[in-house]
Amino acid sequence: MKINENYYNLEQSYLFSTVARKVNEFSKNNPDKKIIRLGIGDVTLPLCKAVVDALHSAADEMGNKETFRGYGPEQGYDFLQNAVKKYYENRNVELDTDEIFISDGAKSDLGNILDLFSKDNTVLVPDPVYPVYVDTNVMAGRNVVYANANESNGFLPLPDSNQKPDIIYICSPNNPTGAVYNKEQLKKWVDYALNVKAVILFDAAYECFISDDTLPKSIYEISGAKKCAIEFCSLSKTAGFTGTRCGYTVVPHELGELNKFWLRRQTTKFNGVPYIVQRAAQAVFSDEGQKEIKENINYYKENAKLISLTLDECNIWHVGGKNSPYIWLKCPNNMKSWEFFDYLLENIQVVGTPGSGFGKNGEGFFRLTSFGSRENTKEAMERFKKLFKV
Ligand code: PLP
Repeated sequence: MKINENYYNLEQSYLFSTVARKVNEFSKNNPDKKIIRLGIGDVTLPLCKAVVDALHSAADEMGNKETFRGYGPEQGYDFLQNAVKKYYENRNVELDTDEIFISDGAKSDLGNILDLFSKDNTVLVPDPVYPVYVDTNVMAGRNVVYANANESNGFLPLPDSNQKPDIIYICSPNNPTGAVYNKEQLKKWVDYALNVKAVILFDAAYECFISDDTLPKSIYEISGAKKCAIEFCSLSKTAGFTGTRCGYTVVPHELGELNKFWLRRQTTKFNGVPYIVQRAAQAVFSDEGQKEIKENINYYKENAKLISLTLDECNIWHVGGKNSPYIWLKCPNNMKSWEFFDYLLENIQVVGTPGSGFGKNGEGFFRLTSFGSRENTKEAMERFKKLFKV
């Protein structure tokens, strides 16, 4: 047996374990102090009624001989593919149902899609970003180069003609920065990818947080994108499916054999998302479901607005928040990310996520999220004002 030595090249991530350790230590030493967590990357509101009703009725179907279902199509039931197709149609994006692949979430597909690409490809990843893009490529031994996101480009890097990547990751709205590309900027990426014959892996996991209608929710709103982009989407943050698990990946026919190969890959290595979960996902796209999930999304968005307004009042530079659940702030007084983490914990017992954990350009920055409760977010922001408002 020869082991995949690429695993030795993975950087250990101590981000969330260090956060947990520091918070535990603090609360042991200060049992009377209330800690507020604004670092949560998971949703906190429950599934909406339309989804829960669909889960119940699908469970009943599974317990009945006449309506029981066994293995389903690996790429998803057509009732859900059609619901996704209609969702795209509402944004003037026409897809064929066999371009839509139902998945158990974006993370697995983002990793698994790499089966289709040779090890020899060079991969371009924004810095900072969701760490899964880098780690999945390091596991496969691919060369990773970075697109520098920073304060001067508003954490929205554009193509650099000196780089010649084969695979380009774009995450918009971005985790951790919350920055969102506009159509012009995204068009630059699409043109560039077509020019250098690269494929774009577009992560739209947070598209539902975009409320500015001029901003693209799907890369296919950009002309030419079907010739160069695969899109990953998820119901995790859209509808609270982080524990229920369902998403979808779009591989357009215009990408040639990639559509066929992805079907081949999925039918070989994946046996589909549970019927019950697909019925629940279908309910997300119903009129009732859309209305209900929007209430939850708006709840988070109000939290985000509160955080952003408070940071404005405190004169703290930040991006995100308006069309995203994440707020990315510059640590005041040139503090480093972990220094700021300790400072907040010590002084106001507010916990966030140090930006340095998302890439080297994250140093000196800090992520807050809007997934907490309104009461906690309000209280945390009052504490921020006391500490930072001049
Ligand atoms: N993409 C991004 C940018 C994320 O932040 C996350 C989860 O945090 C995912 C994908 C994974 O989503 P899923 O729960 O669908 O696997």
